Amino acid sequence: MQVRIPVSFPYEAPVSQSLFERASAVTPGGVNSPVRAFRAVGGTPRFMVSGAGPYLTDADGREYVDLVCSWGPMILGHSHPEVIAAVQEAVSRGTSFGTPGAGEVELAEEIVARIEPVEQVRLVSSGTEATMSAIRLARGFTGRPKVVKFAGCYHGHVDALLAAAGSGVATFGLPDTPGVTGAQAGDTIVLPYNDLEAVRAAFAAHPGEIACVITEASPGNMGVVPPLPGFNQGLKDICSDNGALYISDEVMTGFRVSKSGWYGIDGVRPDLMTFGKVMGGGFPAAAFGGRADVMAHLAPAGPVYQAGTLSGNPIATAAGVAQLRLLDDAAYEKVDAVSADLRALVTEALAKEGVAHRLQVAGNMFSVFFTGADVTNYDEAKAQESFRFTAFFHSMLAQGVYLPPSAFESWFVSTAHDTQAVERIAAALPAAARAAAEATE
Ligand code: PLP
Repeated sequence: MQVRIPVSFPYEAPVSQSLFERASAVTPGGVNSPVRAFRAVGGTPRFMVSGAGPYLTDADGREYVDLVCSWGPMILGHSHPEVIAAVQEAVSRGTSFGTPGAGEVELAEEIVARIEPVEQVRLVSSGTEATMSAIRLARGFTGRPKVVKFAGCYHGHVDALLAAAGSGVATFGLPDTPGVTGAQAGDTIVLPYNDLEAVRAAFAAHPGEIACVITEASPGNMGVVPPLPGFNQGLKDICSDNGALYISDEVMTGFRVSKSGWYGIDGVRPDLMTFGKVMGGGFPAAAFGGRADVMAHLAPAGPVYQAGTLSGNPIATAAGVAQLRLLDDAAYEKVDAVSADLRALVTEALAKEGVAHRLQVAGNMFSVFFTGADVTNYDEAKAQESFRFTAFFHSMLAQGVYLPPSAFESWFVSTAHDTQAVERIAAALPAAARAAAEATE
């Protein structure tokens, strides 16, 4: 995809450019996760060398206010001293044992204590593993093959769930991906988000065949598109009525939008839930959990196999426990307040330039859609004028603010985003809003 970069912004990032060239020689597309490559917005991805509080510093020595926060995990900002200390203490005792360890128990207890529907939890290393395992468990538990997912919801790169996924798949406009066979995706039913009638119709068309409905608790991977009132409860009710499991994917929202994630906001009780990002404190740690009677089907307690060499890694669990213990009510109030301040500033700047937009919010997550209409599903998200985002993004980047390099992603803030960081963003917004207003396709 060729993206036109607004010419008015200076772009020199010679060290990043040279690293990107080296990376591209040895790594497909120069990155280890597609959305990092800037393909949706064009230009050279910035190679970061350090992070402190709300700031990232790139290999050229330029500092940015970070509104990506590693795609969610860094809710306390970068290099939080207590998280770093916990990691240093853990690493001094060794890096991996391949045995059970106390850190795993502590992290599991922390999760179970915070999220009432989670009676038991299994630790894994990525959100992808969590959703993949939860679906396997749902199929094993119900003895049914089919899975319902929603267009625009991303659940990691699980073969069966890469149909009409958001995030990087949305960024690249791929309807699907080569390498996923018809058999792998054939039991996946993809429905429009926020449409309960479509869910009822799917259950009517496939009686006794649907193992589970998986949904992002509040989607952030097609941009932020919260569930309409009653949608999640409706899903839960339809699942209960039909003997299927309701799986709430809280990899993004979990421990971010409240102490107990989106569950803490809407109170709809899932059968299974998935987590990642914040719970790992910046390390590879993720989890799935839920009803004890369902989790009892998991090996070695039950027949559904699931495993991982590095699952519950001692460094990752130490980071996760340290981060979660710091996330008290005051921390969430702080993140919510920063998010509200930023939203007001963005709205003001765009309104001043007459740019049609919708700022959509889920707790402290938000994103800007360059459209004049509310966005309730993936088709509506794709209808936005994303060329305006490109101009907006590059203006912000040039002024030292690092936004997600795609119009289909949530922005993330942290407790470390202080007045100074917010003022830097405020100072950058007028020019970025003007760039968005002047952008042409
Ligand atoms: N589920 C959701 C809702 C996500 O946002 C993501 C990643 O962005 C995943 C699952 C996959 O997690 P991971 O990238 O850790 O595999």
